[in-house]
Amino acid sequence: MTAATHSTLFPQVPDSADAVLEGLDPEQRAVATALHGPVCVLAGAGTGKTRAITHRIAYGVRAGILQPSSVLAVTFTNRAAGEMRGRLRQLGAAGVQARTFHSAALRQLQYFWPKAVGGSLPRIIDRKIPIVADAAAACRIRLDRNELRDITAEIEWSKVTQTVPADYAAAAAKTGRESPRDPAETAQLYATYEDLKRERALIDFEDVLLLTVGILQDRHDIAEEVRAQYQHFVVDEYQDVSPLQQRLLELWLGDRDNLCVVGDASQTIYSFTGATPDHLLDFRIRHPGATVVKLVRDYRSTPQIVHLANGLLAQARGRAADHRLELVSQRDPGPQPVHTEYADEPAEAEGAARRIRDLLTRGVPAAEIAILFRTNSQSEIYEQALADAGIPYQLRGAERFFDRPEVRKAGIALRGAARFGGNDSLLDGAVDLPSQVRAVLSGEGWTPTPPAGSGAVRERWESLAALVNLAQDFAAARPAATLADLVAELDERAGAQHAPTVQGVTLASLHSAKGLEWDAVFVVGVAEGMMPITYARTDEQIEEERRLLYVGVTRAREHLHVSWSLSRAPGGRPNRRPSRFLDGLRPGSSAAPGRSPYGGTGRTSAIEHGYGIPAGSPAPRRTSRTPARCRVCGRTLSDAGEMKLMRCDDCPSDMDEGLYERLRAWRAEQAHRSGQPAFCVFTDRTLIAIAEAAPDDEGELARIPGVGVRKLHRYGAEVLAICAGRDGHEQDNDD
Ligand code: ATP
Ligand code: MG
Repeated sequence: MTAATHSTLFPQVPDSADAVLEGLDPEQRAVATALHGPVCVLAGAGTGKTRAITHRIAYGVRAGILQPSSVLAVTFTNRAAGEMRGRLRQLGAAGVQARTFHSAALRQLQYFWPKAVGGSLPRIIDRKIPIVADAAAACRIRLDRNELRDITAEIEWSKVTQTVPADYAAAAAKTGRESPRDPAETAQLYATYEDLKRERALIDFEDVLLLTVGILQDRHDIAEEVRAQYQHFVVDEYQDVSPLQQRLLELWLGDRDNLCVVGDASQTIYSFTGATPDHLLDFRIRHPGATVVKLVRDYRSTPQIVHLANGLLAQARGRAADHRLELVSQRDPGPQPVHTEYADEPAEAEGAARRIRDLLTRGVPAAEIAILFRTNSQSEIYEQALADAGIPYQLRGAERFFDRPEVRKAGIALRGAARFGGNDSLLDGAVDLPSQVRAVLSGEGWTPTPPAGSGAVRERWESLAALVNLAQDFAAARPAATLADLVAELDERAGAQHAPTVQGVTLASLHSAKGLEWDAVFVVGVAEGMMPITYARTDEQIEEERRLLYVGVTRAREHLHVSWSLSRAPGGRPNRRPSRFLDGLRPGSSAAPGRSPYGGTGRTSAIEHGYGIPAGSPAPRRTSRTPARCRVCGRTLSDAGEMKLMRCDDCPSDMDEGLYERLRAWRAEQAHRSGQPAFCVFTDRTLIAIAEAAPDDEGELARIPGVGVRKLHRYGAEVLAICAGRDGHEQDNDD
C-alpha cells in the first residue's frame, strides 16, 4: 500500500519540527502551520491532503504546541486509520489517536457505559439481515432477497440521518428516496427490527454512534470528561461524513473550534449511507473565520492516469461536480492506462492474474499491486485466479497484522531469545540482527524461500517474511540495534497497529480502497450493471457510481488496468457493454451525448484485446451462447453464485449428499497436502455443483462453472473416480 522500498520503510524521523515541514509544498505548509481555529482543505485525489494533515499534527506535536494525547484524528476506514498511525509514527508523533468514527465512539462507549447506563455494553451484531428477516416474518411481510437488502439499507440510512420509524415516510419523501416497499411498511419493519434488537439485548453498528451521541448529549459530566481529553480534531475524507458522525463531532468539539477537515467532494462515495459533501462545501459558512486551502498538484499519479481521472470528472454532474478541481500531475510520464475486454468473468480474472505475474517479473512488489472491484462478491473469482497462478494475496486489513496468531507466536519467540541476550543456542553462529531474527523465526516456520501455493501456509509465511524484512530494514537504519531493540520496536508498532508491509496483492472493494495507493491498480468489472451497479437508478446514484470509478482510477501511481467482460459466466450471452463512464475516454468509444469529454481528441489510453477478445467476435474458449438458465425452474440466471450452481439458490437441490461429503473429504485432503485453503481446490459452490451433476466423464465435468482447464487436468481423474464411487470411500461411508 505504502511505498515498500527499504529506504522508505524506515525513513529517518525528521530531527525537528521545521524538518517536518520540509516535505511539503507551500499550500500544504499553510495547512500544517495553521494549528489553531477552523481549517478546511478542499482538494482532489492524490494532492497530499492526508500528507498535509499528518504533517500538521506531527509539526504541532514536535513544536510542542499540541499534546499528542489531546489530538483525535478521524478517518473512515480501518485501513486508512492504520495507514495514518504509521505515517504519524514515522514523523515522530506517536501517541496521537488516529481512529475511525466508529472505533473512537466504541472506545468511549465501552468506557462510559458502566457509568452512564450500568452493566456491560450489549453485544454488537455483525449482520442485520437475519434480524430484518425476523422482523419481516413478525410483520407477515414477504420479502425477497433484494428487498431484504434494500430494507436493511433503508434502516441504516434512517439511523445515520437520525430518522426514527415514525418520521421515515416523511423523511424519505422529502429527500426523494425510493422506498423499497410502501413507506409505511418500511417504517413498520424498521420499528420491529429495533424492537427485536432491544428484546434480544443486542446493538448494531449505527447504535454505537447513536448511543455515544445520546450519552454525550444527556450527560454533561461525561461530555466534559471527553472534551478535557481531546482538544484538537482532524477529519480526513470529510466529504463522506454522515449527519450522525457530524453530530458526534460537534459534541466532541463543544463550543471550541480547533477543527481541521480535509476532503474532495468528487470522492463522495457513501451517500447511500446518508453521507453528504455539504458539510465540507459549506464549512466556511458554518465557520466564517476558517482558513481555506486548495491543493491541485497531484503527487500520486502519472500524467496519463491523471488525464483519465480528469476526463471522468469532466463528465460528472451535480453539486460535487460543480466544485471539481482539475488535477495537475507532478510525476514523470508513465505507461498509458490499459483497457481490456474479456469474454467472461473467469477469463477477466485469469487475464488480471497473468498481467500481475508480468508486473511481478518486472520487479513491482506484490504489496504494490491491487485489484479493486465494485462488490465483495466479485472477490472470490479473483482469489481463485491468483491462487491458481501461485500469486500471494491479502484480504485481511493490514491493521490486524499484530493480531495474527503466527505474529503473536513469533513475538513471543523473539522476546524469549532477546531475554537470553544473544546466548540462546538458537542463535549460535548468528552474529547480526537479521540473521538472529531469521534463526528464531526458522523455528516458527520461516524458510528462505516461500512455500508453494498461496493458501494458509503461504499467508503465515508471508507474515513471518514481513517480520524478517522489517528486521533487515531496522538493522540497516540502526546498525547498532540489538534483538531487544527490535522487540521494543515491535511492541511499539503493535501498540500503534503500525503493520509492516506484507507481500501480497491486495484485493479490495472500491469503497474500502479510498485514501490508499498502489503502483499498479486493476479496476475490474467496469461494465454496465456493475459500474454503475444495477440498483443505481436516480441521477444522484449514477453520479455516485461515477465518483466511485474516479476513486478507483486515482488509486494508481503508475500502472492502471481497467477491464470488463462481455458475459458473466462462461458460455453466457455476450450482452454486456463497457461502462458508460468510459465513453469518450476508452479508445474506440465516442462521448456520451451532450457530454464533453476532457482532453479533446487525444488518445487517452491503450485498448488491448491480447488477453481478452475483441468486441463482437465469438468467445474463443467457450462457444455456447445460450444464457445461463436455472436447470430446475428455467429462470435466466444473473447472479454469479447461482450460475456456478446452475440453478437458483432457492430452487431445490437434487444433490447426492453422500457424494458431496466424499468430495468434501477429498478436498480437505487435497488442501492439506498442498498447503492451500480448501476454496483454492474448489469453492463450496463448485463442489455442490459437482455433487449435483455427478458427472460421468471429463466433458460433463468441464461444463461445470469453476472447474476450468487447469483444474480439470489436475483433479479431473480423482473427482470422476469419486463420482463413480471408484475411490474406495463410498464403502466406508455406507458402513
Ligand atoms: P486521496 O484524495 O486519495 O485521499 P490525498 O490528497 O490524501 O489523496 P496523499 O495520500 O496525502 O493524498 O498523497 C498522495 C501521494 O503523494 C502520497 O504518496 C504522498 O506521499 C505524495 N505527496 C503528497 N504531497 C507531496 C509532496 N509535497 N512532495 C512529495 N510527495 C508528496
Ligand atoms: Mg487522503
